[in-house]
Amino acid sequence: MSALDVTVDYGAITHNVEVLRSRASGADVMAVVKADAYGHGLAAAAEAARRGGAAWLGVAQPGEALALRAAGDTGRILTWLYGPELPARELIIAEVDLSASSPDVLGAIVAAARDLGVAPRVHLCVDTGLGREGVPLRELGALLDLAVAAQAEGLVRIVGMWSHLAWADAPGHATIDAQATAFREALAMAQEREIALEVRHLANSACTLTRPDLHFDLVRPGIAVYGLPPVPDPAGERFGLRAAMAVRSEVILVKNVGAGQGVSYGHDYVTPYPTTLGLISAGYADGVFRRAGNRAEVSIRGRRFRIAGRVCMDQFVVDLGPVTDVVAGDVATLIGPDGPTATEWADAIETIDYEVVCRFGVLRRKGAA
Ligand SMILES: *Cc1c(COP(=O)(O)O)cnc(C)c1O
Repeated sequence: MSALDVTVDYGAITHNVEVLRSRASGADVMAVVKADAYGHGLAAAAEAARRGGAAWLGVAQPGEALALRAAGDTGRILTWLYGPELPARELIIAEVDLSASSPDVLGAIVAAARDLGVAPRVHLCVDTGLGREGVPLRELGALLDLAVAAQAEGLVRIVGMWSHLAWADAPGHATIDAQATAFREALAMAQEREIALEVRHLANSACTLTRPDLHFDLVRPGIAVYGLPPVPDPAGERFGLRAAMAVRSEVILVKNVGAGQGVSYGHDYVTPYPTTLGLISAGYADGVFRRAGNRAEVSIRGRRFRIAGRVCMDQFVVDLGPVTDVVAGDVATLIGPDGPTATEWADAIETIDYEVVCRFGVLRRKGAA
């Protein structure tokens, strides 16, 4: 084992997409695989999601969409995060669905389409209140008019309209209904212009799991695909989702120390009694958050131990207690079915599990290289 072993259960991703499909009220599922599939590996995660019935894949960066095509994916793919300098020609040739967030971006798409003589599939993105991507609702009319004119010339096919929620992980938050109302207004504006939309989409994972009335034709779950529900399951069963990522290291030294022994730099932890310390060979150079010192837990032989003192560059310590059967060579699970969840790590260090899996995902790539 290297310092840190990051593994992915792709069967869990397939299973999770099946679960999400069963909760999608008949809407199709777009598995969001941006950011190297939240650290789980773009191509392999995408394949696993397709096996689970994901009719669509969604990515932020154009390069990710092209990478999926290069990996052999032939299904529907949407990419949404770029300015007017997007590689429109490559994307159109690769038959990737394109999002248009502004007249400038639509103009760039139309210019490439005119050049190629091919009409790409376009989804208009409207900002219903997130204050991030999308055309503001009051400017949507102008974007729609441009799109309708381009469609009349055979230069684009307007297939979708979409938006993204700001507070979906806080079910009942007033902005959710306000954004839904704005989205319906946007859809009505398309209908007034007799645009036949194939897919209307708004729901991320949290909305998919909590607001069936907002599923429209397509839902766009990301974090739930990887088995991390962003909202609590009222039934207490994580909605049947299974965490896909596991992160493990190794105990390389076990030793006895007396009471009052300061542990690691700055002695932020002091042993309260004579005890046994275990040294784990992973640190912040390997991606273990330094902030996890004295906060996060690992699991060894099925038991939980909090990190004792500061996380160092390539190691950290746990207090194994006065009597232990742990020996050098044992596996220490930072995250996995046999240990803490990514969500527990996130809570311990005051971030979100999205950041935890993305962080360890970077290591998975390093390990694979
Ligand atoms: C990341 C993202 C998603 C997925 O969000 P989750 O909270 O991970 O489900 C959906 N849509 C857009 C536009 C996104 O950027």
